[in-house]
Amino acid sequence: MNIHEYQAKQLLAKFGVPVSRGIACRTADEVGKAFATLGEPLAVVKAQIHAGGRGKAGGVKLVRSADEARKVAEGLLGKALVTHQTGPEGRVVKTLYVEAGSDIAREMYLAVVMDRSAQAPVVIAAAEGGVDIEELAAHKPQAIARHRVHPVKGLLPFQTRALAKHLGLAGDQAKGFAKLLGGLVQAFMALDCSLAEVNPLIVTKQGEVKALDAKMGFDDNALFRHKEVAELRDLGEEDPKEVEAKKFDLNYIALTGNIGCMVNGAGLAMATMDVIQLKGGMPANFLDVGGGANKQQVTNAFKILLSDPNVKGILVNIFGGIMKCDTIAEGVIAAARETRLSVPLVVRLEGTNVELGRKLLQDSGLNLQTARSLDEAAEKIVAAIR
Ligand code: GDP
Ligand code: MN
Repeated sequence: MNIHEYQAKQLLAKFGVPVSRGIACRTADEVGKAFATLGEPLAVVKAQIHAGGRGKAGGVKLVRSADEARKVAEGLLGKALVTHQTGPEGRVVKTLYVEAGSDIAREMYLAVVMDRSAQAPVVIAAAEGGVDIEELAAHKPQAIARHRVHPVKGLLPFQTRALAKHLGLAGDQAKGFAKLLGGLVQAFMALDCSLAEVNPLIVTKQGEVKALDAKMGFDDNALFRHKEVAELRDLGEEDPKEVEAKKFDLNYIALTGNIGCMVNGAGLAMATMDVIQLKGGMPANFLDVGGGANKQQVTNAFKILLSDPNVKGILVNIFGGIMKCDTIAEGVIAAARETRLSVPLVVRLEGTNVELGRKLLQDSGLNLQTARSLDEAAEKIVAAIR
């Protein structure tokens, strides 16, 4: 799960990470008032969407009066902001964060990420900020310092000093950096983050070290123990199909192809996506309906698949272990009828009561094809949508 910049800054501030004062607003009037409340000659109006690259896309604007702040807000609120991370449809801006402006002397990059190969969080830092870290990693990997965080002992003082040195920070700035990094690592560990990124980390002309931007991602599997974080979820920023799927305990991830897949078990779902591609098709999604999927879940899964206009055909590949094949077949038939299925459907069932299941499908009068193997099923659905 991801959260907005203003939420991340509120969380990080609690861990002692220095951030600017700011006010989250939903209307242009509030933005004008926020400028006055901050009482600074310079403020920044920042579009709150779950995507980076807002600055370059016009979603981060410096303003010098309440009027200017209001005008900028009117230009952003309710409109889709397209950045290199949003895709062409962009994200509609519903919240703006108005922040006291900073006089920037230097911009740097700092992040803590969960590194699976290191089996620990890793601190990443680069003296060049505001840049795309992926690009820097590709073209100038030596510019990026990496330090593994010990899972129990945390980040050790010598590592913090080495990172400060890498960033060219000395004296009070190095001290300020140590405090900021300490807070960032502590927040990362305490809140079960997958990412805590500060890009840019800045030094102001007054010599302050500060997080000018903040992005945090959390491990969904640990959210149950962080109620205050879970409450920050913004469903408007998530794929509505994925949100819907979660309600029914379905593991659904939207993809870019046109063959909707309904499968039970994550491994079988992965294999199904592989075989579809092997046969020249592209899956529209990953969908694991779970080992004990019932009729209701099969129907809900169908509805979610069909709500995607890209879906031109559906492949059902289910192994009847806990659920018997005839029960699944009944679910598929009911779902196809209820949703008035109009795209080609190929069903491959295997397992307990498979013959009974196949017979139910064949006798259903529905326009569907059955298959005996995954190979055959994938070939049939790819051919059907051609
Ligand atoms: P992003 O583009 O979505 O990553 O948004 P950021 O919050 O990183 O802001 C983008 C850029 O706007 C920063 O790299 C800064 O150059 C600029 N910016 C943001 N806040 C301030 C500020 O308070 N003062 C000044 N001078 N520039 C700012
Ligand atoms: Mn940024």
